[in-house]
Amino acid sequence: MTAPIRTLNERVGLRKAVDQRDPAELGKELHAFAAQLYPICRSISGEGIRQTLELIGERIPLRKFSVPTGTQVFDWTVPKEWNIRDAYVKDSSGRRVIDFQKSNLHVLNYSTPIRASLALSDLKSHLFTIPEQPDRIPYRTSYYKEDWGFCLSHNQFLDMHEGWYEVCIDASLDNGVLTYGECYLQGQTSDEVIISCHACHPSLANDNLSGLTVATSLAKLLSECDRRYSYRFLFIPGTIGAITWLARNQDAVGRIRHGLVLTCVGDAGGFHYKKSRRGNAEIDRAAEHVLKHQAEPFSILEFSPDGYDERQYCSPGFNLSVGCLMRSVWGRFPEYHTSADNLDFIHPAQLAGSLRLCAAIFDVLENNRKYRNLNPFCEPQLGRRNLYRATGGDAIGEEISARLWVLSLSDGEHSLLDIAERSGISFPRICEAAEQLREGGLLASI
Ligand SMILES: [Zn+2]
Repeated sequence: MTAPIRTLNERVGLRKAVDQRDPAELGKELHAFAAQLYPICRSISGEGIRQTLELIGERIPLRKFSVPTGTQVFDWTVPKEWNIRDAYVKDSSGRRVIDFQKSNLHVLNYSTPIRASLALSDLKSHLFTIPEQPDRIPYRTSYYKEDWGFCLSHNQFLDMHEGWYEVCIDASLDNGVLTYGECYLQGQTSDEVIISCHACHPSLANDNLSGLTVATSLAKLLSECDRRYSYRFLFIPGTIGAITWLARNQDAVGRIRHGLVLTCVGDAGGFHYKKSRRGNAEIDRAAEHVLKHQAEPFSILEFSPDGYDERQYCSPGFNLSVGCLMRSVWGRFPEYHTSADNLDFIHPAQLAGSLRLCAAIFDVLENNRKYRNLNPFCEPQLGRRNLYRATGGDAIGEEISARLWVLSLSDGEHSLLDIAERSGISFPRICEAAEQLREGGLLASI
């Protein structure tokens, strides 16, 4: 068993734990887990999401919850459970011209069952293609309107000739349950950080197997650490899952201090952090600070009421401090919701980089505290305490500068993150300075 990592004394414990791993090895591991989950036909309910939770549960402690069809959750109702076994369109020679066994994207997700013989002219209104991207199969859903359909590449569609086709969707849409998973890691306090991932998309890698794999590894890492916060990882179907979770946990959300929605974190794009509705929550500031002090390109996005499940967590009744971390932004990359969002579109190095970034953000949350300078009347003599350079004259280095900033702003009002932001010095450096000053008897934690 791995010894617990002391997050406070080692200052940046979680990111250090990531850095102790060989990055190539770590990236490969993350990608391999995505590859294991990739073939499963997931949806907002049914066997696919249960199988996915099963595999996540082999890696981290996961509690599964089932909510029956028809349950009222705020303005929504938990839908019927959908399961699919097979689907195809056969031409008159019996050849499967559209085959679910080749790609689960071929079926309009949540299609009602059908067996029929149809002329192409009647079939057409149930076929979905992207003419601008003729080689790709689109991903389409019809969760809340009972319908059936097939998705196919536009080139495949152009190859279909007039005539009769045998259509089969061997699926069921019946009363059942909506399933989601929770990994809860108790910390020193019951104040919580939530990490939320949608687990409802079928064979799509960036959106959102990347989020599932990074979150699973993050949970594993955190489970081996000393934690100030308790962490709750939510693996839920998009929209209805977050709404269901919030409806069932309405009385408990007061414990949530910070939250992060993780999605699209495996592609080659730079990072995008979308702020919470509050706009200046600690998670927003921690994410922005960490992004500024790392090498990859990034953008900060203001909150908007579209996107992923931050929409629900940040709805005005809850207004939780939940941001969203992505690399490429949903809807803005051509592979989005198409068969091109496959295992080649996500990369081991990017998955590992996203994990490292999350670790650095949580290190800030874990270690962000306020201190009081115990020697506030003029500067204390740092040299006497071996906290200054021996020879005067040249410019002081960042290490000493960090100590001066911490002493200057530790009036009980400013947190270490405040000091890091104002000084432009990275949080780990500020945190290290505070620890040295505390050990030197110059600083007391509040
Ligand atoms: Zn999506």
